[in-house]
Amino acid sequence: MKIGICGGTFDPIHLGHLAVAELVRSEFDLDKILFVPSGMPPHKNLKNVTAPIHRLNMVKCAVSSNPYFEAISIEVDRSGYTYTVDTLKELQGLYPRGTEFYYIIGADVVMDLLSWRNAPEVFKLTNFIAVMRPGFSNEAFKERLIFLRSKYEANIRSFEIPLLEISSTFVRERIKEKKSIKYLVDKDVEEYIIKNHLYL
Ligand code: ATP
Ligand code: MG
Repeated sequence: MKIGICGGTFDPIHLGHLAVAELVRSEFDLDKILFVPSGMPPHKNLKNVTAPIHRLNMVKCAVSSNPYFEAISIEVDRSGYTYTVDTLKELQGLYPRGTEFYYIIGADVVMDLLSWRNAPEVFKLTNFIAVMRPGFSNEAFKERLIFLRSKYEANIRSFEIPLLEISSTFVRERIKEKKSIKYLVDKDVEEYIIKNHLYL
């Protein structure tokens, strides 16, 4: 089995996340993509992050129409800070030996990867598939991948996708400004946000 992992704050999950996951899934013939919303994200200012349960519920709404997608709550269920290294170890215990994991990351995360807890161990636990995001230099991105491969023997492939200039920050700002987020997030996610008065 080849399993893709999409980890993130997902505050909220948007069409960029979904498009990237589906493009990667079909390109790399992955059997499944797990979406893993973070619990208390170590990298973000905690005060400003929406409650994990709301973020998980929105991910569930967003993935329900794709049989290859699954929302999992292992990080949300864990108390305290969540680290990818722990998540990967837990996932290895849940799937048969020999299962290959492919962690999908955007350019921002590529540049930041060494700040992850136990990064060298993470590289041993999973492969990575890296995609570009607007606002990052292609050269810096490629150089970084070469560096991570040579210094850490990281198995990171890059995959070219149409650049998608959409972020959760952009979605949150639009809601605050009372502007439409239709077509930027899944329809059910939009309804969930309205119903729960999020990001106002
Ligand atoms: P925020 O603006 O709050 O940081 P975000 O849009 O960056 O939100 P995250 O939940 O932080 O979303 O990102 C989760 C993962 O998805 C990261 O690996 C990130 O690089 C990737 N990602 C998010 N949006 C895109 C996009 N438009 N194109 C490619 N990758 C993306
Ligand atoms: Mg981000």
